[in-house]
Amino acid sequence: MRLHNTLTRRVEDFVPADPARVTLYVCGPTVYNYIHIGNARTFTVFDLLARTLKRRFPNVVYARNITDIDDKINAAARELGVPIGAVTARFDAAFQDDMRALGLLAPDVVPYATAHIGAIIAMCERLIASGHAYAADGHVLFAVARFPEYGQLSRRDPDEMLAGARIDVAPYKRDPGDFVLWKPSDDSLPGWDSPWGRGRPGWHIECSAMAATHLGESIDLHGGGMDLQFPHHENEIAQSQCAHGGKVFARHWLHSGMLNLDGAKMSKSLGNTFRVHDLLAHYPAEALRYALLSGHYRQPLDWSQALIEQSIRTLDRLYGTLRDLADVTVDGGNAPIPAVIEAALDDDLDTPAVLAAIAEIAATARKAVDPAERAARKAALLGAGRALNVLQMDPAAWFARGIRTDDDEAARIQARIDERTAAKKARDFRRADAIRDELAAAGIVLEDTAQGVRWSRRRD
Ligand code: AMP
Ligand code: ZN
Repeated sequence: MRLHNTLTRRVEDFVPADPARVTLYVCGPTVYNYIHIGNARTFTVFDLLARTLKRRFPNVVYARNITDIDDKINAAARELGVPIGAVTARFDAAFQDDMRALGLLAPDVVPYATAHIGAIIAMCERLIASGHAYAADGHVLFAVARFPEYGQLSRRDPDEMLAGARIDVAPYKRDPGDFVLWKPSDDSLPGWDSPWGRGRPGWHIECSAMAATHLGESIDLHGGGMDLQFPHHENEIAQSQCAHGGKVFARHWLHSGMLNLDGAKMSKSLGNTFRVHDLLAHYPAEALRYALLSGHYRQPLDWSQALIEQSIRTLDRLYGTLRDLADVTVDGGNAPIPAVIEAALDDDLDTPAVLAAIAEIAATARKAVDPAERAARKAALLGAGRALNVLQMDPAAWFARGIRTDDDEAARIQARIDERTAAKKARDFRRADAIRDELAAAGIVLEDTAQGVRWSRRRD
């Protein structure tokens, strides 16, 4: 398998340190709100990576953490007048629901930052002992000057790094670029006892401690969104490498491109977000997943209504093909994934090539007439869909709930179609045409097929 490595900026063969235990760590969400579809893009990309790795290696340990202590959580809890645990429990549950509903695998390990305070404190102590960190004013800071390789991942020079990190110049810092490993908590804030007084961890050290606890001091793959390259991942490298005697932290770094809305990164702070929770109420999960995987993972992807609609239409066509093959029985759940699909995934998770191959398989399936050929094509289509976890529904179920409108409207449209079918049967073609024209005026296009009438929305 070949994967792009941010460390080298090259697509490289992925060779695990120990093929008997492949380790993948992905930075998970900070749980103070519902996740948006931008977050979901990153999690969907790494879900695809985990699924693919699990077919290549017998034992893949995939960890995706939950950040359940953070100043944004503290602020949300304060605003609501509740303990942070009330906020994090609620949005952790919502996150897990969203992931499940979106059809993503549960990771093998889901570590919570607050369950690793002991490991975090121990790591801070180790970094102080080795001279890479210092305590000052209830804080523990990482001394960037003590790690000459700092900046290796993001390839930034020190001035750029200062600007990028929006550093607070604070009296307790030796160097403005030094970053916080531990900070003091007053009585109004959550905190834990530590050698430096009551306090709480900084964000970066949490991931270093959780990765080491569950995956080991050196891991194979580390992933996250492109926006985490600096400072978060740069800081994870500094902490982990220095706490572990110079051992390489992650051998292979993967970063997924940002999901944009009108050219701007979708983010909670800009407020230009669509929540996964809301989207799932309106669109089939497979359509969202298809849309998220329609671009290559390293490129930015523009989220739009048109993208969702295009994805639904494409899936309509593919499910239509499966419906036309309903008479041939194949075991879809065990259909092997075609070699052309595996090869595209091995080529740095080339999902656009996977989707093109799926379209091609469907086209040959539509042309097939020989029963054995039809069965083989159907199995290939189902197997191909399995690689991306799409086309896994019964076509009838897809067409029943795959309509991208509210149920009432869909029922109304279906009722008019049924009336038209009845009119045609009664040879009342004027009435049948009138109903078709009425629906066309409302932007609904009908297609008469051997299996009945299909409808879709006209593209403007
Ligand atoms: P956060 O909760 O903000 O730390 O984000 C959780 C994950 O979502 C991280 O891996 C981020 O890199 C990723 N992420 C945040 N915004 C976007 C976006 N607009 N597009 C893709 N990934 C994102
Ligand atoms: Zn992280």
